[in-house]
Amino acid sequence: MNATPLKLKPASPQASVTPLLRDWRVLIVDDDVEVHAVTRLILGKMRYKGRGIELLSAHSAAEARALLESERDIAVVLLDVVMETDDAGLRLVSVIRTELGNIATRIILRTGQPGQAPEEQVIVDYDINDYKAKSELTAQKLFTTVVAALRSYETIVALDKTRKGLEKILDSTSTLFQVHSLQQFAAGVLTQLSAFLGCQPNGIICVQYDPDKLHDNPPDDNGIRVLASTGECCGCNMHEDADGNCCDPAMLEVVRQALQQQKSQLTGEYTVLYLDTGDTRATAALLHGGLGLADESDRKLLEVFAAKISIALANALTYQKMVSAEQAATTDFLTGLDNRRQLLRLGVPLVAGARRHGTPLAVAMLDIDHFKRINDTWGHDAGDEVLARVGQLLKARFRTSDVVSRFGGEEFCIIAPNLPPQEALALFDAFRQQLAAERFEFDGKQVSITISIGVSTVVIDNIDAMIAAADAQLYRAKLQGRNQVQAG
Ligand code: GH3
Ligand code: MG
Ligand code: MG
Repeated sequence: MNATPLKLKPASPQASVTPLLRDWRVLIVDDDVEVHAVTRLILGKMRYKGRGIELLSAHSAAEARALLESERDIAVVLLDVVMETDDAGLRLVSVIRTELGNIATRIILRTGQPGQAPEEQVIVDYDINDYKAKSELTAQKLFTTVVAALRSYETIVALDKTRKGLEKILDSTSTLFQVHSLQQFAAGVLTQLSAFLGCQPNGIICVQYDPDKLHDNPPDDNGIRVLASTGECCGCNMHEDADGNCCDPAMLEVVRQALQQQKSQLTGEYTVLYLDTGDTRATAALLHGGLGLADESDRKLLEVFAAKISIALANALTYQKMVSAEQAATTDFLTGLDNRRQLLRLGVPLVAGARRHGTPLAVAMLDIDHFKRINDTWGHDAGDEVLARVGQLLKARFRTSDVVSRFGGEEFCIIAPNLPPQEALALFDAFRQQLAAERFEFDGKQVSITISIGVSTVVIDNIDAMIAAADAQLYRAKLQGRNQVQAG
């Protein structure tokens, strides 16, 4: 895995702001101003679980509806029944539950005329959570009723948050399972993580760890590498100070802790997810902030998220290994061209296709002249350099639809579909001339090389037969003095 050492720029100061918990919001709906005043007197100074009460007032069902549409997080509605009409309050219940789709807000019906809305019928017919006659609501009873309502509101909200969190986890990981490039995957993790936490994707960094460097703590390489960065952290890996050291030791430290302890870290300033892939290289995702991750259920969800992401990451790592293995099996190490095995594999359908459709196809064998002399005179490394350069020139010259391969030693083989005989001849001769004009410098001396090429332009039985025919032409080219193209 190619990655750059972790070099981070300092965190922006606003990144560490953690919001305080808001007061509970209670809406009083009553057409009697006196009721508002008394309720404010009783509940105004109340506190529950360290949070105060913010009281909102509406003097009609219509006003309440407008408020409920525009305001969020209203925990409790203390609702009068008779306002604009005899059943204005009851109608508002249906609006809240059905039209506004709000099932979390606790509704306490508080009526001055119990006869108008009989308790037994109302509690069954309307989705309310409590029914009180104003006459029975002493200060103490109102307090108790509101606390009970806040408690169940809190539970409902927490359950809903968990449900939404799990949905997000499922959504995000199914997307991530489709990504196979590791860099793309890492960027995806950062985006999904920020969405999950409800943060800006700023300053999130994914890193991996070289376990050999765990305790060494060398000054300039701690084994931590940046895989991807998003938002404000984009390009962090490029930033380093004059000494080449990490610009933000605090950020580095929290990442190091996560990797060393194999545990996610939630500081006020950073959220670092430890991702256990079962691979020897551990991985962590770092995010600036992590707002609102204070409670236990959030932490648990985050761990579920980390576990899911770890599986997807392990999947991406395995895929990458498979791709590398596949690449090693089909590519020539020195030139980066296809190897002989891959040439034959790709050649079979190309020749079959040309035969079936009667389209032209050329197969060429190329062999560097007196290549052994290069090795003998300038050394094996010089020979390797020549082979690599010839590979580059071939790759640059031919189309991507052509198969350009190193056949073995100093021999190359090219399959060019849809290339008519005359054009093939001209093309390969142009390459022969180009190579002859090329200059190599070994031990301060200018060295040139030539190449002999045999081309088979008649589409016959199969790829093996066409290669054999091209080889026969190459043999002729060698016999007739080298540095030439022979075709047949
Ligand atoms: P001819 O013009 O007849 O083709 O002569 P030649 O010297 O090119 O052919 P020969 O087959 O006698 O020698 C090929 C040489 O290529 C021998 C071998 O050591 C060298 N060779 C094969 N593979 C490599 C390689 O990967 N690197 C280097 N440097 N040399 C290689
Ligand atoms: Mg040769
Ligand atoms: Mg040879």
